[in-house]
Amino acid sequence: MHEMSLCESVLEILEQQSRQQHYSKVSRVWLEIGALSSVEPDAMRFCFDAVMQGSLAENARLEIVTVRGQAWCLQCNKNVLIEQRYDTCPACGGFQLQVNDGEQMRIKELEVE
Ligand SMILES: [Zn+2]
Repeated sequence: MHEMSLCESVLEILEQQSRQQHYSKVSRVWLEIGALSSVEPDAMRFCFDAVMQGSLAENARLEIVTVRGQAWCLQCNKNVLIEQRYDTCPACGGFQLQVNDGEQMRIKELEVE
């Protein structure tokens, strides 16, 4: 389950930022997860609580913001929505897609005390 190490990197970022921005407690974390990132939101929630225990983000609420997959279709000359990385274009069925959104996993916002 790679979500465990992802949560550990989230905690590292929180700790780093707390030193730079001088906060001592995190009460809410908004995490942006792309539909193409292969991160499971449910597994993420489970690991988050376990990893944050005893840290500055203990009992913090995790809000997951899902970002849909998007790609630029070279044939249609426009952005299209895709469900999976190797999907074909839903409009023309073409394979010439350049993914430009939905692969990320990042902290979008924090509520701190
Ligand atoms: Zn297309």
